[in-house]
Amino acid sequence: MHISIRRRDFIKSAAAAGFSAVVGDKLLASESSLPQSKAAVKPVVVSSANGLQATAKAMEMIQQGADALDAIVAGVNIVEDDPKDNSVGYGGIPNEDGVVELDASVMHGPTGRGGAVASIRNIKNPSKVAKLVMERTDHVLIVGEGALRFAKAHGFKEENLLTEESRELWLKWKENLSKDDDWLPPHDFESKDIGEGLKSYIRNYGTINCDAIDLKGNISGCTTTSGLSYKIPGRVGDSPILGAGLYVDNEFGAAGSTGRGEANLLSCSSVMIVEYMSQGKSPEQACIMACERIARQTKEKRLIDEKGRPKFDVRFYALNKKGDFGSASIWSGGKFAVNTGEKQSRLAESAYLYKREPRASN
Ligand code: ASP
Repeated sequence: MHISIRRRDFIKSAAAAGFSAVVGDKLLASESSLPQSKAAVKPVVVSSANGLQATAKAMEMIQQGADALDAIVAGVNIVEDDPKDNSVGYGGIPNEDGVVELDASVMHGPTGRGGAVASIRNIKNPSKVAKLVMERTDHVLIVGEGALRFAKAHGFKEENLLTEESRELWLKWKENLSKDDDWLPPHDFESKDIGEGLKSYIRNYGTINCDAIDLKGNISGCTTTSGLSYKIPGRVGDSPILGAGLYVDNEFGAAGSTGRGEANLLSCSSVMIVEYMSQGKSPEQACIMACERIARQTKEKRLIDEKGRPKFDVRFYALNKKGDFGSASIWSGGKFAVNTGEKQSRLAESAYLYKREPRASN
């Protein structure tokens, strides 16, 4: 019965009204995965600031006709393999026992599929394993020992992911253990100066989120990380949780995150950003709205400063179906990597909710 309405008008009005249910319409879904005309498509790759090489690699592949997800995974593999990036893959800072545990997720817009692994040990490229979970299982998320066994069944080799540098960092932390770990003593809602309230000065966050739109106008994304440094073994952050650390809807766009995963797990920001974009917000506006949502939802005294602002940071990266892109973080000073077809990617400033002040708490 919507035959008399032109498809574009239907999507536009449904999106303006905020109806995500339109995505469930079979006709629209299958139509949307058809390639757009070449002129209409602006390929774009965005990522967190550590993705200059990753975004350049992904764009190079996209321009040769690669699917966005294949290109993104090849891009983030560079960061996973890099021993110097100690927030992702090989050389990642370990958990509190000195063991590197990795989290990763992928989402493939045109097929509406996703896959993820969490707390996987000894496998350097969790993004590849996440993609295999999507392609070769009937599941979406596999964790821990099961994820390792699944990877080995597919021929991945186990290797020690701890570099000398990350081991030394861990040892230093271990030797200085005090109230800076993740175990909280009994406390009440008003307690300050425990947990993140102290840790945000010294703890290491870092991850790569990378999202792209390819020549066919199809959108995909990936987030991969070693997670929070010195975490409690088995701790899972936002990166492998679809809806939190990554979300893609081929009709509207993609979004992903880095930063304090606990906050993002409680606000499911990536799916919200895509939803805000479906309602007509620009990628940057949508990312700012996610930051505002986290700020509003963070109430524990130990996590907020004297002005009620989160002491921690979370950063978002997003692009929409038209190829517009943007990024925002809770605190100023953030950057993101972007490539719109150049040989070399560039860093751009992220929008922000609060300006970092000298000696600010984050
Ligand atoms: N979001 C990641 C996590 O919480 C860490 C990070 O991005 O630094 O595991």
